Amino acid sequence: MTMMSRISSQGRELSALIDLSARIGSDPLLIQGPGGNTSLKEDGILWIKASGTWLSQARERPIMVPVRLAPLLRAIAQNDPNCESAVEFVSADLNPQGLRPSIETTLHAVLPNKVVLHVHCVVTIAWAVLADGEQKLQERLWDMGGIYVPYARPGLPLAQLIRERAAPGTKVIVMANHGLVVVGESVGETAALLDDTVTRLRRPARSAPERDMQALLRLCEGSDYRLAGLASAHSSATDLESLEIAAKGTLYPDHIVFLGAGIFMLADDESLADGLRRAMRLGLKPPPLVLVPGKGALIRKGLPAAAEAVAGCLGDVLARLSRDEPIRPLTGAQVDEIANWDAEKYRQSLARRAD
Ligand SMILES: [Zn+2]
Repeated sequence: MTMMSRISSQGRELSALIDLSARIGSDPLLIQGPGGNTSLKEDGILWIKASGTWLSQARERPIMVPVRLAPLLRAIAQNDPNCESAVEFVSADLNPQGLRPSIETTLHAVLPNKVVLHVHCVVTIAWAVLADGEQKLQERLWDMGGIYVPYARPGLPLAQLIRERAAPGTKVIVMANHGLVVVGESVGETAALLDDTVTRLRRPARSAPERDMQALLRLCEGSDYRLAGLASAHSSATDLESLEIAAKGTLYPDHIVFLGAGIFMLADDESLADGLRRAMRLGLKPPPLVLVPGKGALIRKGLPAAAEAVAGCLGDVLARLSRDEPIRPLTGAQVDEIANWDAEKYRQSLARRAD
């Protein structure tokens, strides 16, 4: 069966979801790399984005996996660890590519709505990393059925938390130090709700000085590092207010998955070689991302494209935070939980393979 005939036989809503996925996946203020996921429930099947695939590629290649919803929900109710990967609930006859469901499949399953969109929306993340974010978000979102849930590790713990907290009228969920979920009964309605939510959560972004290309090239010479590709990644280091906030700690899980725990920065006038020796003395692996104060950002060579996208996200989030706000980074235990998580290691290996 060709891709087009398969899509038409699966119905208009799935086709609309694929179009929407490609659109939101191409907006770096909503989705970075393989992050975020979308789903549709139809005829007892949960169509969910496959692990490691990019929403931005939704029109070019199959990215949706069919998962049998009823047995998955029974497994979630029993807190069965097998539902975290959800592979055993895939409807194999509808999955000729052998795709593996997103690690966030359970989050989509526990919400009763037909359409679920989960984005790593930059403005939402900026609110969601504030110690007083809950109160500020309630003020902005309560009248549209918005709720705030505290941080839980993505996967089964987060899905269980949402299962407890979401009420029948819940339409918008902000997940602390993570991102946004919006739900609805059609793709069009849910897309409109996403736009409305993002508008309500808008935060001004500071503009940052340009990267210092000559200084960065000098630092990288003969090293395993190169200049970051995205202007927003450089802004984390050229905007000294952003840099000051970055030093407070790791803000959300995808940063750890693709760029490691913590944010490594050179000291003023420190060479890259000296910085890397200092990292080694601290027991760190060569950091995937190095911020050079006032100059810009360096990325370790050979990292997957997802790392570039996630480095850009950091700059976009930091530019929307101010040094006077109470920032709440992930705790050491929360960082370790992601860094040592097998499912995330699988996702990293997929990202490497996809490049
Ligand atoms: Zn997520």
